[in-house]
Formats: sequence, C-alpha cells, structure tokens
Amino acid sequence: MNISTNYYQKTQHSTIELENARARLVAALRDGRGETSKALARRLEDCGSTDKWLGNTWYCRQPACFRCKRIYARQQAKALQTRFAGIAKCDLSLVTILLGVPSDVRDIPDVWRKGREALRNRVKAMRRESVRWNDVQLTGWMEADPFDAAQVPLMQSRMREYLDENGPPLFFDSDAGWIVHMHVIVHHPRVDWQGVRDALQRQWPAEHAVDVQPCSQAKYDGQSMDVALFTTTNYALKSTIGRMLYGEQGGAIDTHPASWMADLHTVIYSTSSGFRPWRVVMDKVGSRTRSHDEDSEEYSDLEKYRWNRFGNYC
Ligand SMILES: [Zn+2]
Repeated sequence: MNISTNYYQKTQHSTIELENARARLVAALRDGRGETSKALARRLEDCGSTDKWLGNTWYCRQPACFRCKRIYARQQAKALQTRFAGIAKCDLSLVTILLGVPSDVRDIPDVWRKGREALRNRVKAMRRESVRWNDVQLTGWMEADPFDAAQVPLMQSRMREYLDENGPPLFFDSDAGWIVHMHVIVHHPRVDWQGVRDALQRQWPAEHAVDVQPCSQAKYDGQSMDVALFTTTNYALKSTIGRMLYGEQGGAIDTHPASWMADLHTVIYSTSSGFRPWRVVMDKVGSRTRSHDEDSEEYSDLEKYRWNRFGNYC
C-alpha cells in the first residue's frame, strides 16, 4: 500500500480521541506557560459556545483546534473544487517537501517562511526557463511533527533515511526534534509530474526531501476529481494526535505529548493567529484572482457551520 494512503488511513482518529487530545492540549497551554499560551487556551475553551440571545456559535478558528481545522479543511477543499473544476486528474499532484528538522520549536516559523519563499522562487525560476510553467498553480499547508530519538528506528524508511542525512544530533539540548514539511496540491497542466519533481529536487536536493504523487496514479482510480481534491486537502490538513510507528507487532500510533504540541501552537500563535502561517498559495501567471496571501476570505464560510445535537459540526 502506498505510504501516504496508509499513513492517512491509520492516523484517522475518532472524534472522542481528538477531543481528549484537545483537552490535554488546553490543560498544557494553561499550565505553567506564559500569557500567549493562556490566551490561546482561552480561545480554545470558548470555541463552540453559543450566544444565548442570538443563537450564534463562536469558533476559535485556530489550527490547534481540530474542530475548526476540520471545518477549514472542508472549506478549502470546496474552494479548490471550484477553482479546479473541469481539470484533468493527470494534471494534478500532491507534493510533500521535507523542509528541515530543527530541534528547537522556536525555529519552526522561520523554517516555514524560508520553505514558502524557496517554493515561490523555484516556480518563478522555472517560469523564466519555460513558459509552460506559467500555468502552474499551487495551494499548500505547512506541518510540523515532533519526535524523539527513541522513535526514529520505528519510522517509515523514507523518513528514517532522511533523518540520518539531515536530522539534528539527537538530542543534546532538547527533548524533541521536529519534522517540518509542507503538503502542496499542484496543478501543472503543461508540465508532467516528473518535471515538477525534477524542478523541486533542484531546490531540495536531499534524498527523500521531495515526494510527488500524481493524482493519475492507481490509488485515485475511480475517484472523481472532486473526491481526489477532498482527499488530498484533508490529508494536507489532517488533525493527528501522534505518529505512526512500525514495530514487530505492526503499526501503532505513538501519541504526541501535549506539552510538545502546546509549545508548537504557542510559538505559531505568537507569530500570527489563524491559518495564515500554515498556508502557501501561488497563482498562475496572469490570473485575475486576488492575492491569496491575504487570508480574510478563508473564514467567510465558517459561520455557516453549527453544532448539531451530537456535538459535531454539520
Ligand atoms: Zn475551534
């Protein structure tokens, strides 16, 4: 089975598991941390509260909140379905780029910023080389997964080998290392997926740093374009509570400590609230669409969602 399909399926958690992890995260944010953490904790705690007079539900709109992340993913998938209506599956790929392995959580925003810039600069450089790159457009999201030294031998081989080459010395000054990466949905109508892969490998030459999965491959057989976009968007914006590790007994989820996730979300929240730091978008040349660097439209549909009586969004 394909690694990312496998990973995606095996890291889907029940709502109960995610709610429990969310409660642990809120407790960690409140416990022994600074004002930024406490402010984020308050937002998370207020999420889902209803104004008793107007009946409106308030959402925290934070990536730390799996409820809001789920809504955001759904909304982003819908936007991509509109944007890419009528395109061919062979012109779309899901790209994963490993950006670095800092051992200090405070370095993550900078790794994201540099990764975003490098991606944009690489596409611009390709456009200078060939007009076929003018039609390439992309939407992606950043991610950062913590791990400790004991987990490395149990990771999938691609990640293990990448860490051997690029990882920090494990770990003299911190408990966790961070696998910082981005998942990008790329529409490349006049470039084949191998051309996309080759261009990105010029930017990130480390072995295993770039993975390109064309939506034309077998695992998408029978899926409509809309479903493929929904699947890839949800994969890029998945809410996970741990890492899939493979031991002698097969695979199992090793749950991320809440204190690590609290560190991560505090650092990101201190740079910017909401999903903006997590996102990268690039339009094709001559596109009339507005700049996606401004993310005010990202939340426009959020208020349409309401809690149903089971406590889920509907
Ligand atoms: Zn929320």
